[in-house]
Amino acid sequence: MGEISNEAIQKLQNAVNESNYIVFFGGAGVSTESGIPDFRSQDGLYAQKYKYPPETIVSHTFFMRRTEEFYEFYRDKMIFEEVKPNAAHKKLAELEAAGKLKAIVTQNIDGLHQAAGSKEVLELHGSTLRNYCMNCGKRYDGLKIITGTTGVPKCEDCGGTIRPDVVLYEEGLDNSVMRRAVEHISKADMLIIGGTSLVVYPAAGFIDYFRGKHLCVINMSETSRDKAADIVIKGKIGEVLGQITV
Ligand code: NAD
Repeated sequence: MGEISNEAIQKLQNAVNESNYIVFFGGAGVSTESGIPDFRSQDGLYAQKYKYPPETIVSHTFFMRRTEEFYEFYRDKMIFEEVKPNAAHKKLAELEAAGKLKAIVTQNIDGLHQAAGSKEVLELHGSTLRNYCMNCGKRYDGLKIITGTTGVPKCEDCGGTIRPDVVLYEEGLDNSVMRRAVEHISKADMLIIGGTSLVVYPAAGFIDYFRGKHLCVINMSETSRDKAADIVIKGKIGEVLGQITV
């Protein structure tokens, strides 16, 4: 992994200073420094051996047909109770509080941006912190209904199956979340893309709506947008954003 050059940081700092409508678009790599594995890094979930790839287990079909097995994987690999926001989450929250950043569009489902204090967080893939009964709709906030139970969690009112309010593979994204994400991205003067392999669609397609001045990519590995970006920093996003002054 190359070192993060002072020159690159300075370029990023200058762009941040110049911009007044920054939007951040991120993914699982934003939370790896908090201890949550991503899917596609070397030590990510794809590199670990399961009977099925994560994409299969975290799909609508798998959830409906093998709910118990889904929950086994989900509790083991996707639910993290003790995690805390890292320097990236915190800096983005600071930038929003200072009025410079207007929205975070995230593929993450861990709630760490909100835990850091960010307000306008568009969760394209939902959140593990929200759950609901598929039968009566009763909502269960927080992780307790998942971590405090075993097997398939059931509704205390009607006995229906509870599911997380996350978008599984094969499922559609929420319309109003998509609309707000696209609106922010199309108004942005700076788009920072970070910690995402940009291979999950339709989420990754939303960055095409960007028409602003500064496109910045901060990622450990190469992405399809590196060529189009005016700032590309290969490195850990917490380390990079941690050096930015608001
Ligand atoms: P991904 O696993 O496909 O890609 C992660 C990218 O982040 C990789 O390119 C990797 O090189 C980079 N990366 C890892 N650590 C980094 C760091 N510290 N700094 C900078 N870059 C880093 O993730 P994705 O693109 O978000 O797609 C995976 C899907 O799985 C998403 O749809 C997401 O919903 C879900 N997911 C979410 C979480 C979470 O909520 N924390 C975790 C795993 C997967």
